[in-house]
Amino acid sequence: MNVETGEIREFVNSDALQQAIRTGEWIKLDKMPDQRCKKCYGTGSLGKDVETHLYIPCRCVKKKGETDKVLDRIREAICQEAQP
Ligand SMILES: [Zn+2]
Repeated sequence: MNVETGEIREFVNSDALQQAIRTGEWIKLDKMPDQRCKKCYGTGSLGKDVETHLYIPCRCVKKKGETDKVLDRIREAICQEAQP
């Protein structure tokens, strides 16, 4: 999932995925969004985070308990970037 646009796509192979993750814009989802999910309505994201302005992955695309850890990593990365 692209955290800047909310776009979800499948990568042709794991190399392409790893390369995309290195850009910092893409995060790996554990599964495709649940079309019946009541939180994201199948979009896989909960909209933008007010602080980071990045899309928040829904719980239905992550293994149990993973969502918050991913968000923490994103926030950490942003904090490091913001420092001079
Ligand atoms: Zn969902």
